[in-house]
This record gives sequence, C-alpha cells and structure tokens, in this order.
Amino acid sequence: MNDPARRFDAIIIGTGQAGPSLAGRLTAAGRSVAMIERRHFGGTCVNTGCKPTKTLVASAYAARMAQRAAEYGVVLDGTPGVDMKRVQARAAKIIQEGRSGIESWLDGMDGCTVLRGHARFTGPHDIEVDGAKLTAPQIFINVGGRASVPDLPGLGDVPYLTNTDMVELDTVPGHLVVIGGSYIGLEFAQMFRRFGARVTVVEKSGRLIAREDEDVSAAIREILEAEGIDVRTNAECLSFARHDDGVAVRVGCTEGAPEVVGTHVLLAIGRRPNTDDLGLEAAGIRTDARGYITVDDFLETSVPGVYGLGDCNGRGAFTHTAYNDFEIVAANLLDGQDWKVSERLPGYALYTDPPLGRVGMTEAQARQTRRPLLIGKRPMSKVGRAVEKAETLGFMKVVVDAQTQRILGAAILGTGGDEAIHGLLDIMNANVPCTVFQRAVPIHPTVSELIPTLLAEMKPAT
Ligand SMILES: Cc1cc2nc3c(=O)[nH]c(=O)nc-3n(C[C@H](O)[C@H](O)[C@H](O)COP(=O)(O)OP(=O)(O)OC[C@H]3O[C@@H](n4cnc5c(N)ncnc54)[C@H](O)[C@@H]3O)c2cc1C
Repeated sequence: MNDPARRFDAIIIGTGQAGPSLAGRLTAAGRSVAMIERRHFGGTCVNTGCKPTKTLVASAYAARMAQRAAEYGVVLDGTPGVDMKRVQARAAKIIQEGRSGIESWLDGMDGCTVLRGHARFTGPHDIEVDGAKLTAPQIFINVGGRASVPDLPGLGDVPYLTNTDMVELDTVPGHLVVIGGSYIGLEFAQMFRRFGARVTVVEKSGRLIAREDEDVSAAIREILEAEGIDVRTNAECLSFARHDDGVAVRVGCTEGAPEVVGTHVLLAIGRRPNTDDLGLEAAGIRTDARGYITVDDFLETSVPGVYGLGDCNGRGAFTHTAYNDFEIVAANLLDGQDWKVSERLPGYALYTDPPLGRVGMTEAQARQTRRPLLIGKRPMSKVGRAVEKAETLGFMKVVVDAQTQRILGAAILGTGGDEAIHGLLDIMNANVPCTVFQRAVPIHPTVSELIPTLLAEMKPAT
C-alpha cells in the first residue's frame, strides 16, 4: 500500500526572494510549512544574479578608478592589474554568506520542515519530492527562472557560458563575445572589459536595451564604446561554429565584418521560467505560451489556493518584484488586506557605470498615451556632484502629465542614478503632483538636488 502524504498547512517550492520570507510569516502565524529547494538556497539573486554581479561590478569599478587614478592626482606605483582569482574569491564569499544565511534561517525556523530535492505536482494540492508525498491546502510556487538557450544555428556545437558560469570565472577571457545587449549582457560586458578582456556585444535589434528610449540606448552605447567595447547591432544572422581560437560567431548580414571570433561566448538573451519540469499539467495550473504561470491580481493561479510568486509568474523579473509578491500574498492572506500586483510601479536599475535608474513609463510610452506632456532633461555635466567626482557621463530625464502634474516616468543615467531615482519613485508612489518638489530643500551636493531644477525646467513635448 502507498504511504499517505504528509499534511502541511502550506508548501513552498523554491527558496528565492519570496519563499523564505513567506515561510517566516506563515510559521509565525502558527502554520506548518514544508519548504522545498532543489539546489542552492537563496535562488538566482544570491547565487548567480544580483549579489555576485554587483560584487563583480564593484571590483570592476575599482579597476577602472585605479586606471583613472592620475586624473584625481593619485599616484599609483606601476600599472594597476586585476587578480581575477581574488576578484572571484570575493564574490564567492559573498555568495556563500548569503546562501548559508538563508539555509540556516530556514533550518532553524520553528514550524518549517525543509526538504532538499526537486518538487513536482502530482495533483492540484499534492507534491512529490524524491518519492516523498506532501499535501497542503495552500501551495506557493517560487521556482524562478534560468538563462534561455534558444535553438540558434550551430549553438549546440560550441561551448558557451551563461550567468551561472560567468560568476564562477576566475580567469579573464581573451575575447568575450556577449550575445544579447540588454541588462544582464551589458553588466557582464562592461565588467569584463574593465578586468582586461576584449569584449564584443552582439545584439539582434537595432540598438542596445531596446526597451528604453532611444536617447538612453544611444548614451549607453557611447559610454561602452568609449571604454573599448565593440557593439554589433542588427545581428539578425546569428550563428555559431567551432574555430581554432574559440568560437566563430556570425554576426552581420549586411554591415561590418560578417564574423567575430571569441575565446568565450556568453549567452544573455533572456530568461525562461523553471516551470517545464514542475508537473503543472497534473495540477491543472495554467501557463502562458512562454511557460510563465498565469496568476490573477492577487497572484493566485488557475487552481484555488495555489499561488505563483516571483519571476515564474512573468509579472516581474527582479528581486524587489519577487519580494513584493511575498508582501502582497502575506498581506492578503494573513492581514486581511486587498493588495493587488497591478498597483506596483515598475522601477529598476541597470548596473553599468554610470548606472541607469528607471521608474514608470519611458518617454516613448508616455507619448503613445497622447496626453499633453512636460519633459525635462539635464546632462550630468550640469550636476555639481557629478562634476566634482569627474563622472559626468549620462543625463537625467523626467516625463510629467501636463494636466495632472503627475510624474509618468523618469530615467537617471548617471553617477548615483540607481539611488537618486528613488526621489521620483517615492513621489510617484505617494501619488502627489510633482509641484511638491518646489518647497523641498534637497541636500547639497547630491545628484538628487537637481531633481527640483529638472522639474522646474520642463518644456511641453512637441
Ligand atoms: C545575472 C543576473 C543579475 C541580476 N541582477 C539583478 C539586480 O541587480 N537586481 C534585481 O532586482 N534583480 C536582478 N536579477 C534578477 C533576480 O535575480 C531575480 O529576479 C530574482 O532572483 C527572482 O527571484 P525568485 O524568487 O522569483 O526566483 P529565484 O531566485 O530564481 O529562486 C527560485 C528557486 O527555486 C528553486 N527551484 C526551482 N524549481 C524547483 C523545483 N521544482 N523544486 C524545488 N526547488 C526548485 C531554484 O533552485 C531556486 O533556488 C538578476 C538576474 C541575473 C540572472
């Protein structure tokens, strides 16, 4: 006879950005929780995403500043160099601390049973983990995603790297060819250029980070090219072949050299959800055509009592959106609130140097709404703090609804842009007119102090 399933009040699959905090709230409310993880505790952000990449970005920034030391009157003895083994060891330490911190937190959590293994649905409220059967009225899926590896010609015949491999590299590639000119690809491109690699970024569309406004794309391209990164856009004939020196990447159909030969190839062409091996069909949980779990405004799936949180629901692709999914579900299920995911304002950053802080609509999106707009734009060369730091690349831009005076969106591509954008993000979340900035007294010297000036100088969009 089959063993009966172990009963819990809740099952959580995945220890990424939503799962562990949710386990904390549920167990604190007296619920029994089974927490399942098949690989590294902490998921993508801790192990192969934000944390290691931002650690490496910091090392790359140090390398860059060492090269620029003389500009600041700082004298270094000899040519600064990069010890990639020490760079990698620094990232590995931060990964390990994050991972073990979450693992020991969950292991020591009263009311939480931690299971290590691959979870699969066998029914709407039934899960199997390596032969063990579990059941619960509430199940939370927080399985995240992984690098997408599309079926490109020749790709199966050549070695390639993804973000998972990149954060483990302890040597500097001779020539890194980055396939994909979006957020993940550009961060790796700039950091490895600063570590000493030759770098080529290959992008299928006509410009880098094509979701952003054209002026943002153009400025980022200029910044990267000034550091010696080759950028190849319109690479519509992408194919791969083995080469004596590594991998030959066919790039151009029409313009430029048709082929780039790299020692290493990084695939950074998007992410796909970890939902293909989860048994969702057995549970009747619906997904969209790309495998993202379909959820309603309260993050509940097509099966009542089963929720999809984080990257796997396609409603966000960031650590803060995954964590916010936890906040929404916990507030609604435990605190009697009525919090909807559609209330969330999109905000994010690209951690190139200088970084891009973004919130809300792009200018192009705002123009599509056909409402009267006010637009303000200021180069970072007119921001005192940037001048003092000799980091004047980029610009700040804000788009406002001329009738309601509500900020619709903003971009700060410049030093401190990832932090300064929060001044605008907070005002948007408060849902107050941007005229509130008129009486603000910002701190000098900061990037943020120019936000009231930026707003005061806005002009009607033509
Ligand atoms: C290179 C890179 C850089 C990034 N930088 C940033 C950044 O700077 N800022 C930012 O906000 N976001 C960044 N992100 C995105 C961020 O990492 C993700 O949005 C975030 O980690 C998503 O969290 P999650 O909880 O949805 O899933 P994940 O963190 O992916 O966690 C999912 C977990 O589920 C486990 N799992 C999957 N399937 C199963 C199963 N069947 N059974 C058991 N366990 C399972 C996985 O092993 C994993 O531990 C970056 C991503 C990458 C790749």
